[in-house]
Amino acid sequence: MDHLWTPWRMTYLQGNSPNPDGCLFCNAAASPETDEALFVLHRGQHAFIILNLYPYNNGHLMIVPFEHTPSIEQLSPETLTEIMTLSQRALATLRHAYEPQGFNLGINVGAAAGAGVPGHVHLHIVPRWAGDTSFMSAIGNTRVVPEWLPQTYQRLRELWPDSGT
Ligand SMILES: [Zn+2]
Repeated sequence: MDHLWTPWRMTYLQGNSPNPDGCLFCNAAASPETDEALFVLHRGQHAFIILNLYPYNNGHLMIVPFEHTPSIEQLSPETLTEIMTLSQRALATLRHAYEPQGFNLGINVGAAAGAGVPGHVHLHIVPRWAGDTSFMSAIGNTRVVPEWLPQTYQRLRELWPDSGT
């Protein structure tokens, strides 16, 4: 899958992770000081929210448990509950920020199912609009993402309801 413009990718690939060969999500979880560089939007007790570096649409988020485990089967009830509670807040924040007409929520379990980080389960949240760019993926193997990732991050950070967490 090609992207028309991914200026953040070089920073990401060059990275400042202490363990570049390790798990992307565990690296992000381990260092709150790199939240802005790695686009971590929010940290909860059992899970955190990070922007997808290769977004399908503007506002494409992932909700990730701190626990490194390949499937939801291993997650505790507390973690599962928090993932869904964070999903509610993410949808509300994305509605406020982008006024999407719908959402896809999905978990790919295993590389065969399309998981990009198969060792560390995560829930994708993708805002959708009627007639959005999915046809480009189908036709041209290319995605069009009009907003630069740091802009998305700033926008959602400002809107994210951090109080009361
Ligand atoms: Zn991990």
